[in-house]
Amino acid sequence: MEFAEERQKVTEIAWSVFSRGLTNTAGGNIACRVDDDLALITPTGSGPHWFWDLEPDDLLLVRISNGAILEGTHELSRETPLHLSVMRHLTWVGATIHAHPRSALVFAVCQMEIPVVVESSLIVGNVPVIEKYLPGTTPEFQEQAAAAIVALAQTRCPEKRLAVLLPAHGVFVAGTTIVEAFDTLERVEVGASCIINAAALRDNPLLEGPGPKPALLNDDAQT
Ligand SMILES: [Zn+2]
Repeated sequence: MEFAEERQKVTEIAWSVFSRGLTNTAGGNIACRVDDDLALITPTGSGPHWFWDLEPDDLLLVRISNGAILEGTHELSRETPLHLSVMRHLTWVGATIHAHPRSALVFAVCQMEIPVVVESSLIVGNVPVIEKYLPGTTPEFQEQAAAAIVALAQTRCPEKRLAVLLPAHGVFVAGTTIVEAFDTLERVEVGASCIINAAALRDNPLLEGPGPKPALLNDDAQT
């Protein structure tokens, strides 16, 4: 089995994503580039079948350029074309994660950009919503979604971190490494959670005064 160390790391990150509430059993997927044209990717059903408790040999080794399976017995996720397309277009991307984090999902459902209100989110910036995305659709449609993500990345990701919302669906992040992609996902979710939970402090009868309103921290958020 090739790339044993990388496989182990992907399974550990997959478990962290699930156990920290950054995705649910309904879905999500992780892809990790292990060579210029090779990536490990989680199989379909990682949530509902394995509850994200994957073994290293559950992962599929695929060719990024054409999606061919080189190792693995499970089926590819329906969102594999999205991950591979982003990796093909952005050579700096070492890993991608699609997930359904609880608070960021609220913004995805409402199709609202997540502004920066937490200092730790400045490195990620505002998290925009791409125009449309339908999971399980044709590779051509996913290619269009990937193109929208890539276009955003090229204008908004000076730090080589990418985070976008998939409308009514979830979050897609990328980083130069799988650890960085995971870190980005966590920062996005914490920012979204702070905004939503701040509402509970406004006019809370147990607190004095009207309560604080989160301040927007970056220039993008002011416009
Ligand atoms: Zn999904």
